[in-house]
Amino acid sequence: MSVESVIIIGSGPAGYTAAIYTARASLNPLVIEGYQVGGQLMLTSDVENYPGFPDGIMGPEMMPLFRKQAERFGTRFLQKDVTKVDLSGPVHKVYCGDHVYEAKAVIVATGASAKWIGLPSEQKLMAKGVSACATCDGAFFKGEELVVVGGGDTAMEEANYLTRFAKKVTVVHRRDQLRASKIMQDRAFANPKISFIWDTGIEEILGEDKVEGVRLKNLKTGEVSVFHCGGVFVAIGHKPNTDFLKGQLDLDETGYIKLAKLPTTQTRVPGVFAAGDVHDKIYRQAVTAAGSGCAAAIDAERYLEGLAHS
Ligand code: NAP
Repeated sequence: MSVESVIIIGSGPAGYTAAIYTARASLNPLVIEGYQVGGQLMLTSDVENYPGFPDGIMGPEMMPLFRKQAERFGTRFLQKDVTKVDLSGPVHKVYCGDHVYEAKAVIVATGASAKWIGLPSEQKLMAKGVSACATCDGAFFKGEELVVVGGGDTAMEEANYLTRFAKKVTVVHRRDQLRASKIMQDRAFANPKISFIWDTGIEEILGEDKVEGVRLKNLKTGEVSVFHCGGVFVAIGHKPNTDFLKGQLDLDETGYIKLAKLPTTQTRVPGVFAAGDVHDKIYRQAVTAAGSGCAAAIDAERYLEGLAHS
């Protein structure tokens, strides 16, 4: 088996941008995209803040453009999930089940995934009215009353998007202040179809074969009530996709990759770089992920140049 120059794990803006740069640098990158190609933008609606798209673009339209641009320069793609890595030797090993791929440099760009509340009823009613993706599932809820859980930008975005279909959207938030940016808050407050229930948690999602409501608990007064709705959209943040890296790279207490030589994308292991949401819990934007993918590609290129001259 031949040793690749660079393997990129992940297929969001960070991974594809790293592919564009390493491909243009003639490094013939192999992108292991995962089965969920395109990352989180595939689950989002309008992207209005990515420079170059003055009228906005839908996330699921944007990611194939990134991919196509990487393909144009000869990137090779593999639609498999990476199950483990062995970064102990000078050649890094990347496993997809029984298959092993070897590379001198690895760029990890596996992003993050939506978090769930953790209720048994949430699991039971998953895809039966419980969702974390308004773009994917919103159209199934025409004329329904919906609940969105969370107080960040994702929750506001989901709530706004869902008003295209829903009769009414109620945001249930555990505090009395939103975490979302001002523009997203203003948009949600101005939307006549959106209302808010503050200081409240969801104790249970009700229904047998489909969501029929939620049992709410006011976290200040302890009062419990039932709220009828046809769907629950969970938008409470994300968890980095780093389970396959445990013991191989330094991760922080919440699982994000720790970078070793800031401001570069170098991890603790020479030749292994991290790009995008997998290490960034502060900015987490498509454009910062893409920028970080570019940085990782340049770091990898310089690392490989160094190897060639050593
Ligand atoms: P986030 O900013 O971390 O917000 C998560 C929200 O969920 C918070 O309001 C949090 O409450 C709540 N929450 C967390 N765990 C909870 C639990 N177990 N039960 C109930 N509520 C819970 O996450 P995000 O909204 O996904 O945004 C992540 C990043 O992406 C941010 O940087 C955001 O700006 C960015 N983003 C931007 C856009 C855009 O600009 N178009 C769209 C989406 C996301 P507390 O407030 O009490 O902590």
